[in-house]
Amino acid sequence: MREITRALRIVVNTMNESFYSFSAYLRGLFGERVHRISLDAGFNCPNLDGHLSTAGCAYCNNKGFSVYAQSAKPLTQQIEESIAYYKTKLKVNKFIAYFQSFSNTYAAKEVLKEKYDTIKKFPEIVGLCISTRPDCVDSEKLELIASYQEKYLVWVEYGLQTTHNRVLANVGRNHTYEDFLKALALTRAFNVNVGVHMILGLPSASVEDMLTDAERISYLDIQGIKFHALHVFKDTALERQYNDGKITLLNSRDYITILCDFLERLPKTWVILRLISTANPKYLVAPRWINDKTKIIEGIKEELEKRGTRQGSRYEGSPSHQDTSHR
Ligand code: SF4
Repeated sequence: MREITRALRIVVNTMNESFYSFSAYLRGLFGERVHRISLDAGFNCPNLDGHLSTAGCAYCNNKGFSVYAQSAKPLTQQIEESIAYYKTKLKVNKFIAYFQSFSNTYAAKEVLKEKYDTIKKFPEIVGLCISTRPDCVDSEKLELIASYQEKYLVWVEYGLQTTHNRVLANVGRNHTYEDFLKALALTRAFNVNVGVHMILGLPSASVEDMLTDAERISYLDIQGIKFHALHVFKDTALERQYNDGKITLLNSRDYITILCDFLERLPKTWVILRLISTANPKYLVAPRWINDKTKIIEGIKEELEKRGTRQGSRYEGSPSHQDTSHR
């Protein structure tokens, strides 16, 4: 991993794009294109199984999030099929196993180990990425996750969505910003990369709230960020609010503007894991523009160029924060 860290620094120092993309980061580490495959390992979520709630987050419909969500296909089969498909379609030979659906640390350590160990059957897999809630980790689980760093690139992604507890409560997240801060400290104590998920356009979140989010998290020891535009899935509480005219969604222009404002406030060393998440059209109610990913990304690049700014242009943290190293 030392070699990988050195390679990454070269990428950071020489990048001339307006933001530090995940693909540039992976090319810097592995010298070739690496593709992330989304998996459903059959985990549940405490916000759905009754531990915290049975209602889930207002926008949650995991079927809309990923291809394999609730497919009930064995994990090995999911990986085999994805690798075969992307090897042919994209001509890629290296992959990151992305445990995406539901909360992927919500089980006993032995169960987690059995699921994560599935990747060992596939020499093409070079990385392990685990998406979860901030209230679903502890030292024991993080020690297990950190142990994969010997052979794999490892990231844990936490769904934070906003730093405002009022807004988190509004969408029924059932965790707080402080829960995230605890999970972050614990994860970094094991030197595991942390990605944070943020949603732009949550109900009751003003533009000022979102920019406060950017400023607050920019001071934290985070290595990457994934952005989502709030979108409405079928069969969710959010769909009912949307149909009743109780919520307004961002349009693509506003999303681009806020996202550029956000990017300018982040350290230039953070990896931008994703600028916009797409959704399965079968379950998506609105806004449809989120699936026009290329157009949105081009819009973001054009906006930054027009402003003459880039990721980090308005970052005001101390220089020590900019020296975050990724494995
Ligand atoms: S934490 Fe994730 S899986 Fe759980 S209810 Fe919220 S969106 Fe759904």
